[in-house]
Amino acid sequence: MADRDGVIWFDGEMIPWRDANVHVLTHSLHYGMGVFEGVRAYNTPDGTAIFRLQAHTDRLFDSAHIMGMKIPFTKEQLNEAQRAVVRENGLETAYIRPLVFYGSEGMGIRADNLKVHVVIAAWHWGAYMGEEALERGIKIRTSSFTRHHVNITMTRAKASGAYMNSMLALQEAVSAGADEALLLDPEGYVAEGSGENVFIVKNGTIYTPEVTACLNGITRATVLALAAQFGVPIVEKRITRDEVYIADEAFFTGTAAEVTPIRELDGRQIGEGRRGPITEKLQKAYFDLVTGQTGEHADWRTLVK
Ligand code: PMP
Repeated sequence: MADRDGVIWFDGEMIPWRDANVHVLTHSLHYGMGVFEGVRAYNTPDGTAIFRLQAHTDRLFDSAHIMGMKIPFTKEQLNEAQRAVVRENGLETAYIRPLVFYGSEGMGIRADNLKVHVVIAAWHWGAYMGEEALERGIKIRTSSFTRHHVNITMTRAKASGAYMNSMLALQEAVSAGADEALLLDPEGYVAEGSGENVFIVKNGTIYTPEVTACLNGITRATVLALAAQFGVPIVEKRITRDEVYIADEAFFTGTAAEVTPIRELDGRQIGEGRRGPITEKLQKAYFDLVTGQTGEHADWRTLVK
């Protein structure tokens, strides 16, 4: 990732990609205290547009607030910086990664007198799990690793350290031949994927876990808005893993994963074992929305130019 042409926004300045470096004693590298976002920009008929930029920036500031990190920029500055990074790298579609971290001014977990830094990088990143996954669906496995407890790592924050748990789960799932992990909360109820929110469909109703152990996903909220528009009943509740086994359809949502159908959990086929009709309808509506094929929710698309 480091050896590329292009520019990265670093503490208010656009600098060459290869020069966007930090010291080995960078505090966040040692203890994992940092917050970040994953944002996408799509090609629309009006030009490249960032999808739900304000919601992502709001969540970045919320995450920092939860972690007690004070971002030395305004939301407007970071919105503009994200637009500029896509524009100045000449990207038509992009994955944007803002990261807030502590510098190398000191060591130790007291973490006082540390400078808060912000970087924003952007690059082209296609379908997170491949084009085929979007069409055929993926195989997932219940993880032996439990998702975070609400009073241990602060699950409303998209925090760097939280992703150790995601990586353990995903690596375990992949080594067992699956595409993704399904993590359960500390009480054994379905929480989310390693980087996605999860939904099931049963008898025409959509079910998704309440936002407790899982991240408050922006794609989750978008898909819930689309489902409401289509008049599909939605229930946010605790879900058990065996409810997923007997669901008619299941899918993941996320900025990176977009709307990815799930065709199998723990070796059990879900529904017909392929992308279900409600999943397909929501997936199509989601892609139409992010690429501006529909005029609806125009305020969710911020042009980079
Ligand atoms: N859960 C986790 C753990 C994630 O990392 C992500 C990706 N940010 C999501 C859910 C989905 O969130 P969003 O739709 O906002 O990308």
